[in-house]
Amino acid sequence: QQQQLALLKDQPAITPDGIRVEVAANIGRSADAGPAVEAGATGVGLFRTEFLFLERTSAPTEEEQVAAYSTVLQAFTGKTVIVRTLDIGGDKSVPYLDLPKEDNPFLGLRGIRLCLAPHYQHLFRTQVRALLLAAQENSSSTLWLMFPMICDVRELREAKAFVAETEQQLLQDSQLTAPVLARIQQGIMIETPAAVWLLDQLAKEADFFSIGTNDLAQYILVSDRLNANLAELHRPFHPAVMRTIAHIIRTARQLACWVGMCGEMAGDPRASAFLLGLGINELSMEASSLNAVKQAIRSTSGAQAQDLVTRVLAAETATDIEALLS
Ligand code: PEP
Ligand code: MG
Repeated sequence: QQQQLALLKDQPAITPDGIRVEVAANIGRSADAGPAVEAGATGVGLFRTEFLFLERTSAPTEEEQVAAYSTVLQAFTGKTVIVRTLDIGGDKSVPYLDLPKEDNPFLGLRGIRLCLAPHYQHLFRTQVRALLLAAQENSSSTLWLMFPMICDVRELREAKAFVAETEQQLLQDSQLTAPVLARIQQGIMIETPAAVWLLDQLAKEADFFSIGTNDLAQYILVSDRLNANLAELHRPFHPAVMRTIAHIIRTARQLACWVGMCGEMAGDPRASAFLLGLGINELSMEASSLNAVKQAIRSTSGAQAQDLVTRVLAAETATDIEALLS
């Protein structure tokens, strides 16, 4: 069966009736890029850049970051690479960064909140400079920027203003020879309940959405994603999570906003038909899941997928939904 799956490596993720879904890779280090291409990823749907900051004693320099982003962009020439800006705090602590001690780190200064906080903005500045410079050096790939943990339009505007200001500085210093932002899409993770309620407002300023099911599930269910005592409640296919995901994808499609998914659910072949039936544009996952997800998509028709959506959204328990999906 593994061998049969391996044959799918160079095949597109397309249903028998012609609905196509992009299947991209989640990566954490530039060294993951080559193997992801090999495994058949048609792009990167999530580059978790915080991994560049782990297992070291100081933050990576601008030059180091330019090199890392360039390696990934080069590996995906002609393709799209979604780089998520620094998402630390919460479960991802970085000893040398002197992060504040908080009682509830998952509800604390994490993701975009930390990047925009005056005390930590220098980290964000270095990263955005490196990203814009890497985009200039690698113009035959497409870079998309993605901001994590966005709750409202104010945060998104602030992040975009920060990026625009960084571009201006680089142009003034002649490190950029021409503007690059015009060809860089800027989007957001949808992983907070606040963002789910503000999709219409956010879609006016975000070029794309990507659903982060890992955080979204923990905030919808008010249950820590790492707490083993909550395993019975914290099920990936909880009806509240499934309805939230359906709402996000349908609303995004109505608003004509590109919507992908990069949380763990995207790599679970049991979820593929459901997500396809809702109209997801891209699924991004660990490279090892690509073939299984492709197989699931290639063996479902659009009509079957939509019928499944109706039944899943009516189900009352995670166990019932698992039964429908498998
Ligand atoms: C998520 O929250 O679903 C996600 C993709 O991001 P991370 O797992 O890195 O928080
Ligand atoms: Mg997350």
